[in-house]
Amino acid sequence: MSKLTTMASCLALTAALTACRGKADESFDYHVDRFEDIEVLRYQVPDFENLTPDQKRLVYYLQEAALWGRDILWDQNCKYNLATRGLLEDVYQNYNGDREDPNFKAFETYLKQVWFANGLHHHYSMDKFTPRFSQEWLETQVSNIEGEPRDAQADAIIYKYIFDPSFMAKRVNQAAGEDLIVTSAMNMYDGVTQKQVEDYYAALKDTTDLTPISYGLNTRVTIDNDGKVIEQQYKVGGLYSDKIEKIVENLQKASQYAENDNQRKTINQLIDFYQTGDLKMFDEYSITWAGDTASRVDFINGFIESYGDPLGMTGSWESIVNFKNNEASERTEVLSSNAQWFEEHSPVDPRFRKPHVKGVSAKVITAAILAGDSYPATPIGINLPNANWIRAQHGSKSVTIENITQAYDAAAHGNGFNEEFVHDAETRQLLDDYLFITDNLHTDLHECLGHGSGQLLPGVDPDALKAHGSTLEETRADLFALYYLADPKLIELGLLDNPDAYKAEYYKYMLNGLMTQLQRIEPGKDIEEAHMRNRALISRWAMEHGAADNVVDMVKENGKTQLIINDYDKLRELFGQLLSEIQRIKSEGDYKAGETLVEQYAVKVDPELHKEILDRYATLDIAPYKGFVNPVYKAVTDNDGNITDVTIDYSEGYIDQMLRYSAEY
Ligand code: ZN
Repeated sequence: MSKLTTMASCLALTAALTACRGKADESFDYHVDRFEDIEVLRYQVPDFENLTPDQKRLVYYLQEAALWGRDILWDQNCKYNLATRGLLEDVYQNYNGDREDPNFKAFETYLKQVWFANGLHHHYSMDKFTPRFSQEWLETQVSNIEGEPRDAQADAIIYKYIFDPSFMAKRVNQAAGEDLIVTSAMNMYDGVTQKQVEDYYAALKDTTDLTPISYGLNTRVTIDNDGKVIEQQYKVGGLYSDKIEKIVENLQKASQYAENDNQRKTINQLIDFYQTGDLKMFDEYSITWAGDTASRVDFINGFIESYGDPLGMTGSWESIVNFKNNEASERTEVLSSNAQWFEEHSPVDPRFRKPHVKGVSAKVITAAILAGDSYPATPIGINLPNANWIRAQHGSKSVTIENITQAYDAAAHGNGFNEEFVHDAETRQLLDDYLFITDNLHTDLHECLGHGSGQLLPGVDPDALKAHGSTLEETRADLFALYYLADPKLIELGLLDNPDAYKAEYYKYMLNGLMTQLQRIEPGKDIEEAHMRNRALISRWAMEHGAADNVVDMVKENGKTQLIINDYDKLRELFGQLLSEIQRIKSEGDYKAGETLVEQYAVKVDPELHKEILDRYATLDIAPYKGFVNPVYKAVTDNDGNITDVTIDYSEGYIDQMLRYSAEY
């Protein structure tokens, strides 16, 4: 379970961004669709036209390789997803009735939710969607479809999957004490119990191996005909072979246009991995990939993050193709070249600091395509590879995806959030002026320095914090970022031009952690997700520990709770104190202290405040979750079929894109 609990990688999820003003292109229409708790946006790919012809060809084939993996993820999320999507899309496309009919409207919304989640379970809460149309209505629509007779038995399971709330209820169940495999709907295991899986890996793992493979990363665990537990590999000739062959075909084409030998080697090693399923090869690929810092174009493609597996082993398929934003990357290069300074000045016990910080290469990127588990909902920062020993010996690459943060930013402009939730005009102005840059700097600091900082004392088990490991790791990285955002060093390094700029991020962070992130929680539920827990932990702890000095105030004005920060300097000191304690907990593996902090500050929700936040949000109609449609790349070819140019088009809508992906890939 190493990855689940140590959380080497991190997806700084999108909740961090709420409102502010960026360098938005006023004429670009960011808004695409809005339904239930979702808003779909589009993003720009600035500078694409300035790539060289070969870089454009490279992007073109890499984005094809990205789009071909879509169905792998759908199937990993639940074994009934693809068949169900097929039935729903058939009904949608063959429907001849009134498209304004309430049943059809409810059906359309449901299908939009399913598309967004890559399956029937909400991408964030993991709960199954509730259809607001009847099984009878759907069966009637299915019977109206002309063509081949349908398989009634197969359809019966689909109806059960859609309409029986207790069947495949949760995609990833994390409830302690239950069989997490049996009670989770994901498809990374089939017909096995948690105990069987754990015994299987316990027998397989060599605990003395200092460079272990990522066990189970590309496999489904099941039982063979003799009742023996086995792994089936995702590879050419194995599971998902038809899709993986298409991915490989496009990677082969991409490899012809690699920018340099190192990048070509990276692509070829990935191809070898897909062809063999050999996880040693995946590690070699990861090492070469981490070392390729010279190429402008870069990509993630494969079974990467393991949040979709309740045991945290199997990677969900994803891909992001991107290229470096040279101008903005000066920011992260300055940070990472000063990594040692930050480590030495951090407010933690010197015993817990790294004597030598391994260089984390950090850059700001422009996403060109989002796919698999990164689509439509996408991270804004990524730090890979995940294998701890590769990170320690070979370093890692950390990125901030700025055209995505820019799209969030632009789409939020004028949505009324600041007027509703930010207490006074002065603070609103500060957010207008500085939230975009400080939010991005927060992501940079969190990803490229925060996660990489600190060390464990000798002999401490990296998994000692168990189920609270992810929350505490995110807490540590956020505190590192918050603490240094207010440091004069950032002015000295030329990253900020105003000593008060950090206050914009402080205000928004506290507002989010104490109040506005509750928008994402259903009434009566606890906070579950690691990043949300971490924000609650930090903001509530700081509020409580600053109470004697009146550092942060929450007051009721006209029936609305308002946040007022009275002493920003003191708030920074509190962040430093908590960072020191969290680092101690991690370095010493103090599970008890970590558990106490999480349970005391990060889980429970005040029902009265919660209701108020939900009511206030309702008047604004701001979606708690956002995602994106991709641009469409078209290859312009000469008479011999050679690509002479690649064009980019932003006009495709959400439904059209989903139906086209299903038809073409
Ligand atoms: Zn993180």
